[in-house]
Amino acid sequence: MPRPFRHPVPLEIGGAELRDLVSACMDRLAPWLDGLNEQPAHSLDGSHKVARAFDEPMPERGVPFRRVLARLFDRAIPVSLNPASPGYLGYIPGGGLPSTALADLIADITNRYTGLWMPAPGLVQLEISVIRWFCTLAGYGPSAGGWLCSGGSMANLAAVVTAREAKLGEDIDRGVLYTSEGAHHSISKAARVAGLPRRNTRVVPVDASFRLRRDELARAVAADRAAGLRPFMVVAQAGSTPVGAVDDLAALADVCAEEGIWLHVDAAYGGFFLLTARGRGALAGIERADSIALDPHKGLFLPYGTGCLLVKELATLRAAFSEAAAYLPPSQEDQEHWDFADLGLELSRPARGLRIWLPVWLHGASAFREALDEKLDLARDAAARVRALPGVRIVAEPELSLFAFRVEPPGMNATEFDAFNRRVLARVNQRKRLMLTGTTLRDPALGEEVFVIRVCVLCFRTHADRMDMLLEDLADAIADPRG
Ligand SMILES: *Cc1c(COP(=O)(O)O)cnc(C)c1O
Repeated sequence: MPRPFRHPVPLEIGGAELRDLVSACMDRLAPWLDGLNEQPAHSLDGSHKVARAFDEPMPERGVPFRRVLARLFDRAIPVSLNPASPGYLGYIPGGGLPSTALADLIADITNRYTGLWMPAPGLVQLEISVIRWFCTLAGYGPSAGGWLCSGGSMANLAAVVTAREAKLGEDIDRGVLYTSEGAHHSISKAARVAGLPRRNTRVVPVDASFRLRRDELARAVAADRAAGLRPFMVVAQAGSTPVGAVDDLAALADVCAEEGIWLHVDAAYGGFFLLTARGRGALAGIERADSIALDPHKGLFLPYGTGCLLVKELATLRAAFSEAAAYLPPSQEDQEHWDFADLGLELSRPARGLRIWLPVWLHGASAFREALDEKLDLARDAAARVRALPGVRIVAEPELSLFAFRVEPPGMNATEFDAFNRRVLARVNQRKRLMLTGTTLRDPALGEEVFVIRVCVLCFRTHADRMDMLLEDLADAIADPRG
């Protein structure tokens, strides 16, 4: 039994007290982790009630830690979607590696400053090393570099700013950005935040595999040039969020090279499949992109809070983000020593590299590669079995580990399909063994907006048994079209 913690809690926690506090957390976390397989994949009953319970003023005095933990574990945490669950197949999962929590604990207790190289050269260098691992994965050369940030949206924002600086300088108003129908909304948000006029974002049509059409892109670029505008950036998908589509990156790289346009690949969902042979095949050509967004909190299974922007030329990031300040040490100028403050939007920042470095050293790259390969297998096999269910049409094949489908029972009026698919989704989710999500999209087969159900397999805890549950729950849900 850890001894009771002194009350009220002093700010200066010593080693013995820290051990007790961590141990009290572990008393909650260990059973929680061991019970994860049995936990519901989502449970939002009592949402408003629980939210109200936490709407309270700042306490003047500390309360015993176990009581604080009880409120978290008994009240706040259970009422939620459960992205840590192996049954969470909605949106884009990841799971949340517990080993990253160890890195966060170390980083937070030691509190080193990693905004610049000088104050913590070892920690900064290990983060540079992590970014270089990613550059190697992407097929980038020695002049490449990058920046770890809070997530894919931030990485996309930094990419738009970097491309804008490189291609437009201060002539922003005439700049045009091209993306496709399935692009993540963080792209248009980034364009807006980067100061581009909203009228200058083009959504280029996609083909039957949801891939940005090269001919349509070339046509749009030509039309914009004829109108006196300045096409400067194409954002391609390497695993789109709605359906997991992977653009023909080599073809888009050809267009961009001919036109002098910056090619950014949003690989926030799909990028880490580069660890696998199949992923490298699907993402061929990515090495020709000027920049790439990755999301370690998706494809490397990290807990939320880490995204990454890679650039083919580190100098382009420096050109976009470096600033001098008389109160700071002078910036590092060479290729070896990076100041992260000169490569992104932040000055003070957490030691993000450690969240990736520690798990990779602990588990080895092969553990990640095997897990990702397993997800590719699970999605491919599940899609084949789902296709065999009565009335199912696969709308988007699993290019990686995400597919989308629709149930179109014979005898049902086409106008009833959407409502029926929403019912199927609700019925599957009702059992809480799984959490699926849907989306509306323009179905290339029909040329119409339709509602589809998505399955995204990207939690390291998801295995074949969950895919069996998926098939069972889906088969039951579609068994009674009128019900
Ligand atoms: C998730 C995602 C993003 C946004 O990343 P966040 O980490 O949620 O900010 C951007 N693009 C794609 C393709 C994504 O899947």
